[in-house]
Amino acid sequence: MTQDQGLTGFNILLNAALNKSTAFTEEERDRLKLRGLLPAAIGSQATQIERVLENVRRKESDIERYIALMALMARNERLFYRTLMDHIDEFMPIVYTPTVGQACREFAHIFRQPRGFYITPHDKGRIRTILDNWPTNDVRVVVVTDGQRILGLGDLGANGMGIPIGKLSLYVACAGIQPNQCLPVMLDVGTNNKDLREDSLYLGVRKERLEGAAYDELVEEFVAAVQDKFPRALIQFEDFLTPNAYRLLGAYRDRVLCFNDDIQGTASVALAGVYASTRISGLDFSDLTIMFLGAGSAATGIADLMVEAFQAEGLSREDAQRRLWFVDINGLVVKGRDDLAAHNLPYAHDHKPLAFAQAIKSVKPQVLIGATGAPGTFTEEIVATMAQINERPVIFALSNPTSRAECTAEQAYTWSQGRAIFSSGSPFAPVTVNGKTFAPGQGNNAYIFPGIGLGAVICEASHICDDMFLVAAKKLAEQVTDEDLSKGAVYPPLNAIRNVSMEIAKAVAQIAYDQDLANAPEPPALEQAIAEYMYDPYY
Ligand code: NAD
Repeated sequence: MTQDQGLTGFNILLNAALNKSTAFTEEERDRLKLRGLLPAAIGSQATQIERVLENVRRKESDIERYIALMALMARNERLFYRTLMDHIDEFMPIVYTPTVGQACREFAHIFRQPRGFYITPHDKGRIRTILDNWPTNDVRVVVVTDGQRILGLGDLGANGMGIPIGKLSLYVACAGIQPNQCLPVMLDVGTNNKDLREDSLYLGVRKERLEGAAYDELVEEFVAAVQDKFPRALIQFEDFLTPNAYRLLGAYRDRVLCFNDDIQGTASVALAGVYASTRISGLDFSDLTIMFLGAGSAATGIADLMVEAFQAEGLSREDAQRRLWFVDINGLVVKGRDDLAAHNLPYAHDHKPLAFAQAIKSVKPQVLIGATGAPGTFTEEIVATMAQINERPVIFALSNPTSRAECTAEQAYTWSQGRAIFSSGSPFAPVTVNGKTFAPGQGNNAYIFPGIGLGAVICEASHICDDMFLVAAKKLAEQVTDEDLSKGAVYPPLNAIRNVSMEIAKAVAQIAYDQDLANAPEPPALEQAIAEYMYDPYY
């Protein structure tokens, strides 16, 4: 039950958390001094949703739909979230990928009003003080980016603020995190994107990026300030450039309640897809050989979690690493290459250097996962080769947004004569090949991070550990039904996402209680405690 906080009249209508607009009852109109400020008809929330749908659907483009939905969020939070929750299939691709990619590109041009928190190098030394400007004190989830690697779109500087805003709206819609406990943050350290710096409407710092020690010091001050001001907050690092992403995760994961979704969330969702694929292929997970195209943060994060997953099946660490192969822009990742980053070294095998197609023929993986940001890299030759080697080749084209996918769903099914077990990072419409219709699943991190966050919030976790991502993958895979699999989907439908988040949150909190990582006492009925916490946008 939302309290009216003592506000009346227009102050209520202008407060997004309290506004019900035409749904205020006769009694509320009297009590809250709203008489005369609203048209006569009293509408239900369902009627209001009908109106929202009519308005949003008649827009001519997805970016217009994004603008309309963001305006609704700023006007009537509960109506926005209920619309999003009840129509998650239709609107997640608008408030998140792929449309959020365009929204970030055009952020400075479609900007209407500020949302979230901006920190610049100019704030050095006073970050803790300015955090007091934020209107609430009980922030539980912070999503922070510096805008340097937004989706697969590169350095978008302060325009990247669309990502923390979008991700937090999914924390609320998919896992019921309270909206007033969410804080989107842009660490605006400049941009190396010259076009942006020269865009007359650009809203960020018009300088080249802060780098090196000065950058790390600013991040350190930010993390310390958040811990001091919001001691229970989970910090999610989002869309940082890979070397920074790894360095920051390494620096903070054991010290601070935090994770990196591009590395760890992606890993968990991809692992869940691979687990589920074995129910179609009939293969044993522990027998799989997996090849990645792309050896950046996403692919390496997946491999690192798969090592844990293989070890949980009884393989040694070395054997597990031997099952995982990488091809990057310079070919197969092998020992002796002098261009490899530290995170690549455990997967640099004793093998002659090969180009991608030859590497597949030589290694014969059952699973091929693309995380390159390079569209079209799963060519007909690649898909056909995977289909020659495997009865049911597993092909995941994870790069976002849709325009960056390694191949389309139609290509994967057509080039494999309908045998591919396909999944992608951004959604594809159902495809009919040889008379059979496939509805591929979306390997969307939104299946994982909201549940991880919810679990962490409930138990007031001190840390996020790898076991939590492993268990999240298992729980997600368990939610895939035989009916989903029969349509070619290795993920449950998006409208099951609140249940998925609940299952993940329970398992994550349980790990925290068991491993002494929880600051809150274990409730007698965990599921009930979670359900009671979850945001309810109905009125
Ligand atoms: P990154 O820049 O760290 O890594 C990209 C890697 O791809 C590098 O190793 C590079 O060598 C390789 N690469 C680039 N072009 C290539 C080519 N033509 N052939 C072979 N290799 C090539 O980026 P990242 O953070 O790992 O993200 C990569 C992609 O993964 C992005 O498009 C991102 O949207 C996507 N991603 C998807 C999800 C998801 O849930 N689906 C989550 C995170 C990231």
